[in-house]
Amino acid sequence: MERILLSLAHMGGTERKYVDEAFADNWIVPLGPNVDEFEHRLEKFLGAGHVVALSAGTAAIHLGLVLAGVEEGDEVICQSFTFSASANPVRYCGANPVFVDSEPDTWNMDANWLRIAIEDRLRATGKLPKAIVPVHLYGMPAKMDEINAVAAEYGIAVVEDAAEALGSTLHGEECGTLGTFGALSFNGNKIITTSGGGALICPSAELAARAKFYATQAREDRPYYYHKVIGYNYRLSNVSAGIGCGQMEVLEQHLSRRRAIHELYKKLLGHIDGITVHDNPTPEYDSNFWLTTITLDPDRIKTTPDQLRIALNNLNIETRLLWRPMHMQPVYESAPYYGGTVAEDLFNRGLCLPSGSSLEDKDIARVADAIAQTIEKR
Ligand SMILES: *Cc1c(COP(=O)(O)O)cnc(C)c1O
Repeated sequence: MERILLSLAHMGGTERKYVDEAFADNWIVPLGPNVDEFEHRLEKFLGAGHVVALSAGTAAIHLGLVLAGVEEGDEVICQSFTFSASANPVRYCGANPVFVDSEPDTWNMDANWLRIAIEDRLRATGKLPKAIVPVHLYGMPAKMDEINAVAAEYGIAVVEDAAEALGSTLHGEECGTLGTFGALSFNGNKIITTSGGGALICPSAELAARAKFYATQAREDRPYYYHKVIGYNYRLSNVSAGIGCGQMEVLEQHLSRRRAIHELYKKLLGHIDGITVHDNPTPEYDSNFWLTTITLDPDRIKTTPDQLRIALNNLNIETRLLWRPMHMQPVYESAPYYGGTVAEDLFNRGLCLPSGSSLEDKDIARVADAIAQTIEKR
C-alpha cells in the first residue's frame, strides 16, 4: 500500500516556466519580476491589502510585529493553541508572549479571555500589550469581529497569523486582510508553496514599503550603506517567487479540492458515534480546510488519538496530533496564560487527517476505512 501523507507540495505544471525565465534572465536574486508578479497576483486574489513577499511565514509575523511597534520588554497576546512559529517572533523582538485560550467553535482565540488578559496585564504591568496574534488554525477563520472589537477598544494592533488560511473567508472577506497586518506561509505543506516563503499583508502602500525596507537590511537611501534601525534579510528570492506565480494559477483548484476532501471525510466519518469532524460553525465561516481534523469522544471511543495515529501509521497513513498549546511548552513555561482547558482538551482529543490537494477520493476512503476499523468503541 502506497504511503498517504498529511499534506504534500502539489505542483500545477507552469511553475517551471517562471523559474526557467528567472534563469534565462539571470534574475537569481531576491527581488525581480517574479516577486513583483507574485505579489500582484496575491493582491488581486485577496482583493484588499498590500502584499510583501518574504522568505517565510515566520518572517512575515516577525515584520508584522516590528511594524506594529513591538519592542524589547513589550508584551504581545498570542493564541496558545498554535504552532510555535506564531509565538517565537514575539521573542525575536525581545518582547514577551502572553497566551490565551481558544473557544470551542473555531478552536481559535477566545475574545473573552483576550479582554481578561488585556485588563490583567494592564493591572500587573501598567502597560497595554503592543499586539494581538490570533491564528486561523487548520484554515478555520478566528472570530475576528469580536477580536478586532476588543483590539480597537484598547487601540492594540492585530497581526493575523493566516499561515494556514490562504483562501479561507469570514463573511466573504479573505483571512489575512481582517487584522492590522496579516501573515501567509508558502511552506511545502501549505495551500500553495514557493518551496519556502511567506507574505506580509499590510494596510497601506506606505507600510508595505516600510516592510520591504526592513526586509532588505534597512538600508537608508544614500550612496553608501547607512542604517538607522536594525534590518533583516527576509525578501523572497525571484526563483522561489516563480514557483509562487505558477502556484497562483492552481490556487482555486487547490482550495476546492481541500474543501471537497473535507466534505468526503464528513460523509465517510460523520455518522460514526464518538467522532466529530471539525466544521464551519456557521455559514459565515468558510474554512479552506487546509487540514481536516477530527476529535474523538473519550466517553464513546476507547482508542486515544495517539493510539489511532500509531495504528494508521502501521497502515502507511500519516496523521498528526493537534498542536500542543504554547502554554504547555517547556520553552514558554514562564509566560502568563489566561484561559481554561479548551485548547488542552482539544489537544488531548484531536487528530489531523491527510488532506493534501493531490490526494484522490480513493485515498480518503482508505483513511476513513482504516479509522472506522481501528477505533474501539466503549
Ligand atoms: C506554517 C505556519 C507558520 C510559519 O510559516 P513558515 O512559512 O513555515 O515560516 C506560522 N504559523 C502557523 C500557524 C503555521 O502553520
